[in-house]
Amino acid sequence: MFFFFCKSSKPAVRNGQYDQYPAYEGTDLGMVYQKKKTIFKLWSPAAEAVRLLLYAAGEGGSALQTKNLKRASNGVWETTLNGNQAGSYYTVQVKSEGKWLEETPDPYAKATGVNGRRGMIIDLAATHPAGWENDRRPAQNAFTDIILYELHVRDLSSHPASGIRNTGKFPGLTETGTRNPDGLSTGLDHIRELGVTHVHLLPIFDFHSVDESASEGTQYNWGYDPDNYNTPEGSYSTNPKDGAVRVRELKQLVQTLHANGLRVIMDVVYNHTGQTDQSVFNRCVPGYYYRQNASGGWSDASACGNETASERPMMRKYMIESMKYWAQEYHIDGFRVDLMGIHDIATMNLLSAELRAIDPTIFIYGEGWTAGASPLPDAQRALKANTWKLDKIAAFGDDFRDGLKGSVFDHHDRGFVSGKSGTEESVKFGIVGATQHPQINYSKVNYSKAPWAGEPSQAITYVDCHDNHTLWDRLSISCPDASEKDRIRMHKLAVALVLTSQGVPFMHAGVELLRTKQGVENSYKSPDLINHIDWKRKTQYHAEHDYIRALVQLRKRHPAFRLPSAELIRKHLQFMEVSDPNLIAYQLSGNAGGDRWKNIAVLFNGNPAARTLKLPAGDWKVVLDDQKIDEKGMETIKRGEVTVPGISAKILIQE
Ligand code: CA
Repeated sequence: MFFFFCKSSKPAVRNGQYDQYPAYEGTDLGMVYQKKKTIFKLWSPAAEAVRLLLYAAGEGGSALQTKNLKRASNGVWETTLNGNQAGSYYTVQVKSEGKWLEETPDPYAKATGVNGRRGMIIDLAATHPAGWENDRRPAQNAFTDIILYELHVRDLSSHPASGIRNTGKFPGLTETGTRNPDGLSTGLDHIRELGVTHVHLLPIFDFHSVDESASEGTQYNWGYDPDNYNTPEGSYSTNPKDGAVRVRELKQLVQTLHANGLRVIMDVVYNHTGQTDQSVFNRCVPGYYYRQNASGGWSDASACGNETASERPMMRKYMIESMKYWAQEYHIDGFRVDLMGIHDIATMNLLSAELRAIDPTIFIYGEGWTAGASPLPDAQRALKANTWKLDKIAAFGDDFRDGLKGSVFDHHDRGFVSGKSGTEESVKFGIVGATQHPQINYSKVNYSKAPWAGEPSQAITYVDCHDNHTLWDRLSISCPDASEKDRIRMHKLAVALVLTSQGVPFMHAGVELLRTKQGVENSYKSPDLINHIDWKRKTQYHAEHDYIRALVQLRKRHPAFRLPSAELIRKHLQFMEVSDPNLIAYQLSGNAGGDRWKNIAVLFNGNPAARTLKLPAGDWKVVLDDQKIDEKGMETIKRGEVTVPGISAKILIQE
């Protein structure tokens, strides 16, 4: 979800005609570069003419050469340029209804000049960093072993205390040995120490809103407004004017993260384009790539002025080829699909199969909702409720998110960690990874009245992300009378719930530093001052950071918390009876998932005051309390019951 409210415009719609357009099966659309010639192909069935304009640079100057493309079969136009054309820039221009449309890169442009206005002919092999042929995805077994860390490229390095030289740039993520003023690690070193497995980057494809030629750091945007899907964003490169630099620097980023044991997820936004009438799609094939509403205007399930039409063969093909390109050319390890509920299920399942044919460990997840109504029927779309119909694709669990801290639509609402009762079933639903479990009363779950994940690997378990308030800010807003000490307890309890639950946990970068955006909710274009990760907080909240880091380690060392199937969850996870509201207790029994711990009792108290809970028979060793995590055991409980302090978690084990 995100919050642009762009103006909607009237399209030149030819609804109904698109079915007549022939599809093209080939995988050579756009520019195919060879040392001795470059071939261009553009699919534009209704075009009256198509021409290619060649330029010396990515901006300015007049065309050096104009070539008319020839009509080939299946709606394709093509031409060949002789000689080595690497480094030339180009646009295409389509004649439609007697008029030449504006110049544009083609949809498949693999590199562009500044601000993505011209494509660039590029020799991709020449952009490989040294050792690229030896780059390997770090090892990964089950999807439930993944721990996601959601990060904006700028936010990592834009605070002066980051100690990172390449502020706001791709290379900033490759710097090691960086420290805050107190000598604590920042940036990549910090992420590696935290122990997450995947860095999920907010949009890194070419987006519209930031002027790449503007002076450094004057503009900020999350980037959910795509211009060129197959090109990296220029403002994250050290030289946006040379189209090859951003390509090389992004590959270096992936290579460095891989070398540090981290996989890389790309946030992709195929559900709409940043521009509507003047998008690359509409300048090449007016109307085709978008859905239309009954009155002939652009339908707008994205709330950004348009929504794409994945059910149309050439849009479906485009999305799939684009993601395959990122997986193969840039070694991207997975995709977070923005407003996935706009896309149709058939497309998503085809995509999943094609990506898994490249590498079965590529992970796909998305937002199982839209930002507005869509003309495509709900049953056909990749909505959260349909997740079980998706093939190895996960969805975000807003049930758990809002059960923990309150609805994102009511800033003063509270959740389990902030003392609201009646949220227990929503939280329990999150604990079992949104799967079918006999002990969940689905009628009491806040949003979903039925399980939506077929397997826990289909559930993204989280409490906050780039959207909405950070967890820390939310607790400040919804609990204005609570002391900082109590809000810290709530924060730790929420993160403990995320990191011990079944499913695939997702952390908003900086949650381990009690990240604040100064109370700004929709910070998509707020300055660095709001969005940056303040590395001084690592010193200030060192104890809280260490606790969250220990939770990550606990999860990684104990397969009981990341069972790979719904069946194993039903077999090994039993909720225990509790006497009071705002208490949740469960047992992972029988060396769940091959865990070396025989039985694990996991207890959560959302009440402000302590509560005493009965334990199953036998002696129990405390390994986690509100202050620390020690797997050797801190205390042995022999009396059959244990006290859990207010607003805290406790984990006990039997070996
Ligand atoms: Ca851009």
